[in-house]
This record gives sequence, C-alpha cells and structure tokens, in this order.
Amino acid sequence: MESSSAATVSAGPSPGPTPADLLRRLRARGAADPVTHVERVPARPGVPAPWPSWAPPELRTAFARRGVGAPWQHQAQAATLAYEGENVVVATGTASGKSLAYQLPALATLLADPRATVLYLAPTKALAADQLRAVAALELEGVRPACYDGDTPRAEREWIRRHSRFVLTNPDMLHHGVLPGHAQWSGFLRRLAYVVIDECHTYRGVFGSHVAHVLRRLRRQCARFGSTPVFVLASATSGDPSTAAGRLTGLPVTAVTEDASPRGGVTFALWEPPLLPPDSGPSTPVPPQSTGDHDDLQQIRRSALRETADLLADTVAEGVRTLAFVRSRKGAEVVAANARRALDDAVPGLGDRVAAYRGGYLREERRELERALLHGDLLGLASTNALELGVDLVGLDAVLICGYPGTRASLWQQAGRAGRSGQEALAVLVARDDPLDTYLVHHPEAIFGAPVEATVLDPANPYVLAPQLACAAFEAPLTPADLALFGDGAKEAVDQLVAAGALRQRPTGWYWRHRERPEVDLRGEGGAPVCVVESSTGRLLGTVDGGSSHFLLHSGAVYLHQGVSYVVDDLDLVDGCALVHAEEPDWSTHARDVTDLSVVSVRSYVDAGPVGMFLGEVDVTSQVVSYQRRRIATGEVIDTRPLDLPARELRTVAVWFTLSPQSLTLAGVQAADVPGALHAAEHAAIGLLPLMATCDRWDIGGLSTAVHQDTEAPTVFVYDGHPGGAGFAERAYGTASAWLRATRDAIAECGCESGCPSCVQSPKCGNGNNPLSKPDAIRVLDVVLANLPE
Ligand SMILES: [Zn+2]
Ligand SMILES: [Zn+2]
Repeated sequence: MESSSAATVSAGPSPGPTPADLLRRLRARGAADPVTHVERVPARPGVPAPWPSWAPPELRTAFARRGVGAPWQHQAQAATLAYEGENVVVATGTASGKSLAYQLPALATLLADPRATVLYLAPTKALAADQLRAVAALELEGVRPACYDGDTPRAEREWIRRHSRFVLTNPDMLHHGVLPGHAQWSGFLRRLAYVVIDECHTYRGVFGSHVAHVLRRLRRQCARFGSTPVFVLASATSGDPSTAAGRLTGLPVTAVTEDASPRGGVTFALWEPPLLPPDSGPSTPVPPQSTGDHDDLQQIRRSALRETADLLADTVAEGVRTLAFVRSRKGAEVVAANARRALDDAVPGLGDRVAAYRGGYLREERRELERALLHGDLLGLASTNALELGVDLVGLDAVLICGYPGTRASLWQQAGRAGRSGQEALAVLVARDDPLDTYLVHHPEAIFGAPVEATVLDPANPYVLAPQLACAAFEAPLTPADLALFGDGAKEAVDQLVAAGALRQRPTGWYWRHRERPEVDLRGEGGAPVCVVESSTGRLLGTVDGGSSHFLLHSGAVYLHQGVSYVVDDLDLVDGCALVHAEEPDWSTHARDVTDLSVVSVRSYVDAGPVGMFLGEVDVTSQVVSYQRRRIATGEVIDTRPLDLPARELRTVAVWFTLSPQSLTLAGVQAADVPGALHAAEHAAIGLLPLMATCDRWDIGGLSTAVHQDTEAPTVFVYDGHPGGAGFAERAYGTASAWLRATRDAIAECGCESGCPSCVQSPKCGNGNNPLSKPDAIRVLDVVLANLPE
C-alpha cells in the first residue's frame, strides 16, 4: 500500500483515481498478475418517457415531490400494460426504478376507484416496510397503506382489513393468515384490483413452488368473491422472466426487459488469487494431529477473504468508496477486520473508515451506515448480501465481490451498486478456491456473454402440490374446476389425499376432513422444523427445517443467527430442539454425509451408444457422519470429528449418466481408477450445475460408483436435495451437454496437478475426497461428450 495515497484521504468523497488507474495499481502489487480478464461495460444514457395519459395529475405531482420528474421508458411501458389489464413482469437491473412500474398503475386505480384495493407481496418484512414508507410518503388521500405481517399488533389487524386499500405483506402471511381467514378478508379480496409481487426471482426451488400454489389459492378465493386482479411482478434481471412469472402465477405474463434507466460505465475485472508457494503453506501451520484429508499436501490458493480484505484496504487508502460483498456474515467481519488492521498499520486511525454491515442490525443502525458511506465519512463497507434485497445503497466507486454469488443475476445485482450518476466505476470478482469460481474467471464469456439464468421452480412437485391442495381444501372444498387451476398432477395428489384420509369426496367436491387446518411451512421441508434455543435463557432464536437440521445443528456446529454466532451443545431429535450458547470461535463447521441411492423410475432417457443419460425418481438414504472445523480466515482444516446421527430417506429427482466399462478401457481409464474418475467427475459436475440453474451446490447431492445395482454400469448420479425435486436435476438433464462440457473444461483447465478445491475436490464430500482422479475424470467426460447428442 502506498502511504502517500493514504494520506490524501480527507473528509468527504474525493474525485479519486479513474477505475482503470485504480485497477492498474491494484494488480501491480504482487509478482504474478491476478487479473484474468477485464470487461468494459459501457455507460448507457437513460431514455425518459412522458407520463402516461391515464396517470392523474395528483399522482404525477406526488411523484414530482419525491423527485421523480418523469418515468423511464420501461417504467411507462410496464405501467401502461398493467393499467390496461395485462399481467406484466418487469425484469431490469438494480436501481432501475421497478417500483414506479407497479406503483403507477396501482395507485392510479386506487385514486380512480375509491373502492379498489391492492395487495403487495415482498419476500421479507424489511422490504415490505421500505415499500410502505415509499407509498406513504406520496401522501395520497384515501389509500391508507399498511403492513400486515407477523409483527402487526392484533389490535391493528382488523382496522387494516377493513380500511387499508394498499396492504403490504409476504407470502408466508398470505398463506398462514390471509387465505385461511378469507371470510374476514372478503371485502378486501372482492375489490382487489392488483397483486404486486416484488423481487419475484427469489421465489425459486421448493419455496418458489410453494409460493406458486399460494398464489393459485389467492386467485381461487378472488374468483369466489368475483374479482380477477391483475398481477404485476418485479424481478432482477433473469433469463426468460415471462416463463418464470407464468409458472409462478399460473397466468400468461408479458415481460418488459429493456432497461431504460441511465447507467455509468463499469470496468469489471476477474481476479484469481495466486497459488501460495508450496513451502509457505497456510499462515497457521496445520497441526500434526489433523485428520483433514489431503489438505496439508495440496496446493492452496490465497483465500478470497484475505485477497478481498487487501483490495478493500487498498481502495480505501486511495480514497475510493468501496463496498465488498462477502457470502457469510462471519466472512464480512473477517474482511472488515483485516482491512481495518492493514489501514491502521499504514496510517493509524484510517481503519475507522471501514465497517462491516450485516443482516440483523436495527433499521436505524443500517441507515446510519448507509448515510456514512454515502457522505464519505465511511469509505469501505464489507457486507453480506443483506443489501441485495431492496436496501437502497447505490453509487459506489468500487464494488468487490468475494466469491461468485451463485448466479449471474446476483452478480449483476451486486455489481450494479457501482457507479454513481454517470461516473465510471470499478467492479472486481475475486474467485474462491472452488470449481465454479475458477471456471468463471477463466471463461469470461460465461459471465459477460451469457444470458442470466432462468429462475427454476416446479409447481408440479407432488411434495408441494399435495399439502397445498390440503390447504386449499381447508379454505373451501375443491371442485373439479379447481384441479385445472393447480395444474399437472393435481388429480393424483387429490386421490392420494383421499386415500390417506385427509380429504373426503362428496358429490359437490373434495372436503378437508379435520377440524385443524393442515400444517404446511412454505420455507421448510423434510420433516418438522427444529427449534434453536439458547440454553442459558431459554430464548427461542429461530427454527431450521428438519431436512437441514442434521447439517446445521449437530453438536459442535457453529450456527449463525442474525449476525450473532452460537455453538450447538446438543441436538435433541426427539424433542426437535437444539440447545446453543453464544460463542464466536474463529472456525466454521462443515458437516459431511454418506449416501446410498436406488432408482425408483425413469422419466426420460437418451440412449447414446456406450453412454446413457437419464432423468428419474430415486430414493436417497443419507447420514451425516462427521464434520470438519475450518479456520474462517484461511479455510484451513483444523480437524474432522465424528457424529452419531440417524440415516434419513429422501425421494427425489435425479439426473444420471452411465458408461460402458469397454468405453472407459478404450479411453485409457484403468479399472482400478474408475471409482476415482467417476467421483471426481461427479464433484465437478455438482460444482458447475449452478451455471445452468439458480441453485447452489448445497441444493444438490451426488453419488458415483463403478457398478450400481440398478444400472449395472459405471454411473454418476446428481440429485435434488429436496423431497420431490426442485427442478434442478431436470434442468441439468435438459442442458446436459453444455453442463458436462463446462465441467470437463473446468477440470482440464485447472492449473493444479492432481486435483484441488478449484476443480474436483468438494467441501461436502462424505468420503473425504477419496478416491479422486483428475486426469481420468477428463477421460470419462470426454467419452460422455463424444457420444451425447448436442
Ligand atoms: Zn484443480
Ligand atoms: Zn465425494
């Protein structure tokens, strides 16, 4: 770090270096150039549009008072479509003003029709609260906007149901509160003109599939009361938003995707931390009693957290307002602490201008940090993606992204924080030591040349459909016409519910048989949720769904809750509760499981000579058997500890491929190396699947074997880690050749000799990453790709 430049930091934002200059200085620090690619994202002027003729002057004046002189073209276009009664999804970048696109038609309708109502749904309470403030600030008469969620006092609820015409809530409240209590909401629902679904790209996977049915239940109740509301959805930039919004709502939805808001130019660099010299090893020596696999033998890259901390210190020293995105809260704290230390070493006191930001702060605390950053009192902030959901912080000079955030959509959302009104900004993606990150920094076309991912959800999942139909039947008996509304598989699910004694069939429809309503958690799955309780106080901190509890709440696990770190003392599976105490160790914990799998049925397959590609149902038995403790700052493995937890069963959807033993022999894979070859290919394939679908590697599992009892051939399975599947394996099957091509290239292009976390090692492997054969994995994938049709 140059102390001369550090000395130039003074109060308030300074003009600072250009992004190109800044990047030149950052990359000149080490011996090897860590930058693998630089992309110039050009500036874009805004395209304003006149106010639509239907927008009343009162509303235009109200927006003008809030600083909105005229809409951008995409806002006007989406608003007019919605006003004319078309369902519309606006899918544009961060800070492109999506809220105006739904506020305009919704509020114009409320002003024109004094009886009409609007329902707004946000994925989080915080976002709903932000939107409430925005709508309330317009001070429109007779709208009476109000939040209705778990925090709303009982005393206010009845007033809101009767008098508010703009109710802001979340899907959970709609599911647990509004729909089962529809009689009390009849007046509101009868007059419902618009349903606004904000941040709709967050409704993906199993959660998204549940929300899709909650919306069908809402439409059913509206129809019973005689209303057909228009749906207006707002999404981050995503692939094929019209199809995703259509799956979510069950309705045809028109997409508006042409972003007409102005954007400053961004210099976007891809950054790969250097390999550490073999003799230096991790900064803290691995203790000799370590049982951590090969971790003391392999080549190690400098950790992305350290690299990001150094970059943050350097940009702050240059007087550049910088936001660093870090995936975990603890990671954000580590980055901020290391950056502060480096700055204080250079100029005592300079470290004070860096802070960490995380979810769980009070609103006032968050606003104070945002204010300090925007005014330049604070120059550097390390944050989790708590910022990603609707919190207003844009116009930074530099954004550092520590580790690929999982999707191109999130990457662009985070990078979109850079660049204030027309000024050039810098964005840097710092690769973590894993296959996907490594692949991406060496394949910039996969970031800059590819459309963002499609949001994947599967409303036909029987594990979602049946409980949702039970909820619907509780709300009102199901009729044959309703079955069409709930889509494919609804009849089978109803028949199952009848057979199970949950529904009774009568001439007028299917009736819920019980007094109590069905217990269905939209966000939980795979068993009853486990309560997390602080032992010393008896305080309930939160719940974790049953499916994840073995991974997250085993004895000794480090559990994060709203930014505070706890250690689990005991997981009581009988009572469904985990006892924890507050403690902040400098390691994280990573559970590992072992898996057995059997094929139940094949849905679809491709017969490609020596290679077969399949999609079907499987039963997976898995058991969490141990966990690793790893140092947060370096990722170094401290030790592996055994666990004694029961095995669990999962029926789900898998994609798998088989190869004939002859084809492997011909490709030069020795029989003894087949297990290592398949295992390595499996790990990398799981690591690369997020390139194709909006999942992360923790949503999916895998299994490979030289002979599987059901396929009778060398086989690699990749399965959805959710009961009934979440659409990920299906997506993998649909994009198999592109997916496995990327997997093959990621392994082949990794600079390591015999496999590392950047290519074929997996952080969640139940077999301690053994056996693995990197060169043979490439041969396996070459055989698959040579035979599989494109
Ligand atoms: Zn490697
Ligand atoms: Zn493994």
